Amino acid sequence: MIVGVPKETFPGERRVALIPAVLPNLKKAGLDVVVEAGAGVEAGYADSQYADKGAKVLPDRKSVFASADIITQVLCYGSNNKTGKADLPLMRRDQVLIGFLRPFGSLEVLQEIAGAGVTSFSVELMPRTTRAQNMDALSSMATACGYKAVLIAADVLPRFYPMLTTAAGTITPARVLILGVGVAGLQAIATARRLGAIVSAYDLRPVVKEQVQSLGARFIELPIEAKDAQDARGYATAQDEAFYAKQRELIGRVVAESDVVISTAVVPGRKAPILVTAEMVRGMQPGSVIVDLAAERGGNCELTRTDETIVAHGVTIIGKINLASTVPYHASSLYARNLTAFLTHLVKDGKIQFDMSDEITHDTMVTRGGEIVQARVRERFSLPALVAAQV
Ligand code: NAD
Repeated sequence: MIVGVPKETFPGERRVALIPAVLPNLKKAGLDVVVEAGAGVEAGYADSQYADKGAKVLPDRKSVFASADIITQVLCYGSNNKTGKADLPLMRRDQVLIGFLRPFGSLEVLQEIAGAGVTSFSVELMPRTTRAQNMDALSSMATACGYKAVLIAADVLPRFYPMLTTAAGTITPARVLILGVGVAGLQAIATARRLGAIVSAYDLRPVVKEQVQSLGARFIELPIEAKDAQDARGYATAQDEAFYAKQRELIGRVVAESDVVISTAVVPGRKAPILVTAEMVRGMQPGSVIVDLAAERGGNCELTRTDETIVAHGVTIIGKINLASTVPYHASSLYARNLTAFLTHLVKDGKIQFDMSDEITHDTMVTRGGEIVQARVRERFSLPALVAAQV
């Protein structure tokens, strides 16, 4: 079977779906790779490195789609709402497509993907289980985002992060607050701690307290309790507006005392909750920085503008999206390893198997045979459930 790697086309995207180092493992599983010329260049992987590992480098995108049985992308149509549609006419029936599909985004787009007849898999829907841990692209990208958010804030902050004792006096360390302690939040805590900041963190899921403390940060406990804070998959559950209002009221003081706020709080399939109001921004010291990693989902700060940086009341609010693409070498390396684990899971004896009794295959498959087949996606868009034989 042939796996194709087209160049990413989303504006500013620098990652690539597969890197040369994973090709020998794919080969062992019976998978040959074709790469669009220049696909890895912006991430730091030259065409010659792919060729050295046995890939065929093809001159254009059309030839990659035409020769591959399986297309691997980072942002494919679905998450690439800018240029992704141009790939639709290149796809053919029963071709397999794997990438970030944004499965709860636009029904119309998913129907177009289904209409192309492709069997598509969304990496966002990978189960958060031990078995699927090495295929978890969301965690890989969240790691890159959490790391980079701290560095972006450091670059803008008019202060040092660490405590410094110098002949010219002692510098007090920066105070960094992390709101939402999932994978990105944990990485942000670790990175800010390594840079010497004093770090506090808050999450509505009390189970993260120990993880926060083990990284040397203070866990902020608010005197409110979320109802059923997390679902069976470990995700935060949506709370009512009264809860969020109380949260904002209680968190205000901690925000005001922070030099940097990095917010990552999201609830699957929902707009991000507002945790930092315009009033709270006004209460921060001028020069403070907010990096809103939830910007793509509307933002955790009331003033965040998606993919823009603004200054309000002297506070810089960064709503940059797609931060993982700014660490393209390692983000691609992690993603390629996730995809390799997934591909070798799907392919048995050189043939792709759609074993729908397998949780990983079942949960991640979004379209097949012209239909949207993923149960949660169908539910989200109020489509009638499919009968077992259709799935
Ligand atoms: P996420 O990106 O969905 O959300 C980020 C964080 O925001 C979460 O910790 C969430 O609790 C928090 N949040 C949401 N609303 C909030 C609010 N109003 N106030 C404060 N915090 C709020 O999270 P994620 O990184 O995708 O992780 C989700 C879950 O999956 C976690 O339980 C994580 O441990 C788990 N996980 C498991 C595996 C695995 O077992 N293989 C891998 C990765 C993550």
